[in-house]
Amino acid sequence: MQAFGVFSRVSLASTRSRTATLRISSISRQFSSTSRIMAPISKETDYLVIGGGSGGLASARMAAGKFGTKAMIIEGGRLGGTCVNVGCVPKKVTFNAAMLAEMMHDAKAYGFNVEETKPFDFTSFKRKRDAYIKRLNGIYERNLNNDKVEYVRGWAKLRSKNEVEVTMEDGTKETVRAKKILVAVGGNPTAYPSDIPGADLGTNSDGFFDIETLPKKVAIVGAGYIAVEFAGMFNALGTETHLFIRHQTFLRTFDPMIQEGVTNEYERLGVHLHKDSKQTKVEKDSNGKLSFHYSDSNGEGKLDGVDHLIWAIGRTPATKDLGLENAGVKADEKGHIVADDYQNTNVENIYALGDVCGKAELTPVAIAAGRRLAERLFGPEQFRTAHLDYSNVPSVVFSHPEVGSIGLTEPQAEEKYGKENLKIYKTSFTAMYYAMMEPEDKAPTKYKLICAGPEEKVVGLHIMGLGSGEMLQGFGVAMKMGATKKDFDSCVAIHPTSAEELVTLK
Ligand code: FAD
Ligand code: NDP
Repeated sequence: MQAFGVFSRVSLASTRSRTATLRISSISRQFSSTSRIMAPISKETDYLVIGGGSGGLASARMAAGKFGTKAMIIEGGRLGGTCVNVGCVPKKVTFNAAMLAEMMHDAKAYGFNVEETKPFDFTSFKRKRDAYIKRLNGIYERNLNNDKVEYVRGWAKLRSKNEVEVTMEDGTKETVRAKKILVAVGGNPTAYPSDIPGADLGTNSDGFFDIETLPKKVAIVGAGYIAVEFAGMFNALGTETHLFIRHQTFLRTFDPMIQEGVTNEYERLGVHLHKDSKQTKVEKDSNGKLSFHYSDSNGEGKLDGVDHLIWAIGRTPATKDLGLENAGVKADEKGHIVADDYQNTNVENIYALGDVCGKAELTPVAIAAGRRLAERLFGPEQFRTAHLDYSNVPSVVFSHPEVGSIGLTEPQAEEKYGKENLKIYKTSFTAMYYAMMEPEDKAPTKYKLICAGPEEKVVGLHIMGLGSGEMLQGFGVAMKMGATKKDFDSCVAIHPTSAEELVTLK
C-alpha cells in the first residue's frame, strides 16, 4: 500500500497532533474552497464505514465477509488505525524489548553469564518494528479484499445523513451515498498545553514511535496508561526517565492498591517521579536538547539536556471537521459522539463506536462493538438485539510490573454496594521467579478481590505483578459468568504459579 502523500501520518512524522492539525487544516482549506459545491455522487454503498482502525475494520469485514453486505471503508491514514500503527502493537513490541533488558539482568542471578558487548541497538530495533507494522498494514488490506470490502483511501466528511464527501489522495473529491454510516474515526493525542511556552518543542505518543535512537534522558508528562507504559519502557532500557504527574500517584482511575503499588515501584526502580508538578516553560539549547522548567513537591526546578519531552495527557476524538453538524450528529463537549448501548447516534442509520465515543478506549472494545453492530444490522434475526456489554471489561497496563483490572475499584464498589456489604481479600508476596535474586531486584506482587453481598460475588479483581497481562483474560471469563468467591475457591490451584494465589485467598 502506498503511504498517503501530504496527509500521511507517517510522512509528517513528528507528532500526531501536529499531523492532525496539518491534516485538518489542509482538509478544511480544501473543503472551504468548495463548501457550497458538493462533488458529484460517484459511489453508492449499503454500509459506509469511516475509519479503518480496530472498530471500523472489524465491523466492515463482518458485514461484508460474513453477511454479504455491500460495504465500503474510508481510511485517510494507515489501515489498522491507532492500535496497529501508533498504539498497542508497536508499544507491545517495545515493551517486549524492555522486558528482555530486564530479563538479561535477571538471567545473571540464575547463573547465566550474560555479557552485553554492545549497547542496545535501538535504531535496528525500530527499523524492524516499522517493517513489522508495514507487513500488518498489507495484511489488513488483503483481508479487506478477501472479505470484499471496498477500500477508499481518503479523508471523509459527512455532508448529510447519508452522504459523505471524500478528499482523495490526489486532492480530488468524491461523494459517496450510503444507506447506513458507521463513524469509527478514533482519536488523536490531546494538543500540547497552549499556556506553556515552548510546549510544542515536545512530542506525543505518535512521536514516540518515530524516535530513532535510544535517548539518554526523557521527560514524560501525564499519569495515564501511555505515560506510565512509556516511562517504564524507557527506564528498563536504561534511559534517565523523568515522569511529571499532577498528583501524588498515577493511574488514578485504577484501584488504590494499583495506584500506590506501581507508583512506589517506579520510584524504587529509579524513575524520577515529579509529584504535584506543573510545567512552566520549555526551551531548546544550541545542541538541540531541551530544558524543561517546572515546579513540583520539592519546589521550582529545571531539567536540562532532555532528548525528548513527551506529552501523554490524554486523547481527543477526531471529530473536529468531520461534518457532524451537516448530518445533525450529537457530540458532547469534548467532541465524543454520543451513542447508546447499541452504538446508535441520535441520527437514524448513523452509528458510532470505539475511541470516538470515549467509552473504554481499548482495541478489543472497538472490535467487539463493531462486530456486534454488524451482526445486529446485517445478521439473521437471532442477532437483532446484539450489542456489546461494556461491564467487566478486562484491562492491562504494560507497566513494570504489569497491572490488570476487571470490574469495580474498592471506592466504586463501596459507593455501589456500601462498605458493610463488601468483603475484600488481599495478598502481597514475592513471586517465585525472584527467588534467586538480590532483594533490590525483587518486584512486588499484589492481588485484590472485591466481593459483594452474602453470596460474595466477585465485582472487582485487581492484580499487579509479573505475568499479570497474560493472567487476567481467564479471570475475565469467570467474572463475566458472575463468579463468586466460592467459585474461585472451588477451582484447584496450579502450583507453583502466582495466579494460584487468586484461588486460595483467605
Ligand atoms: P482508531 O484505531 O484510532 O482508528 C480510527 C481510524 O480512522 C484511523 O486510522 C484514522 O486515520 C481514521 N480516520 C480518522 N478520521 C478520518 C476521516 N475523517 N476520514 C477517514 N479516516 C479517518 N488498546 C488496547 O486495548 N491495548 C493496548 O495495549 C493499547 N495500547 C495503546 C497504546 C497507545 C500509545 C495508544 C495511543 C493507544 C493504545 N490503545 C491500546 C488504545 C487503542 O489503540 C484504541 O482504543 C483503538 O485503536 C481504538 O480503535 P478505533 O477503531 O476506535 O480507532
Ligand atoms: P489517559 O486518559 O489514560 O490519561 C491521561 C492522564 O494524564 C489524565 O488522566 C491525567 O491524570 C493526566 N493529565 C491530563 N492532563 C495533564 C496535564 N496537563 N499535565 C499533567 N498530566 C495531565 O490517557 P492516555 O493518553 O494515557 O491514554 C489514552 C487511552 O488509551 C487510555 O485511557 C486507554 O484507554 C488507552 N490505552 C490503553 C492501553 C492499554 O490497554 N494498555 C495503553 C495505552 C493507552 P491526572 O488526573 O492523574 O493528572
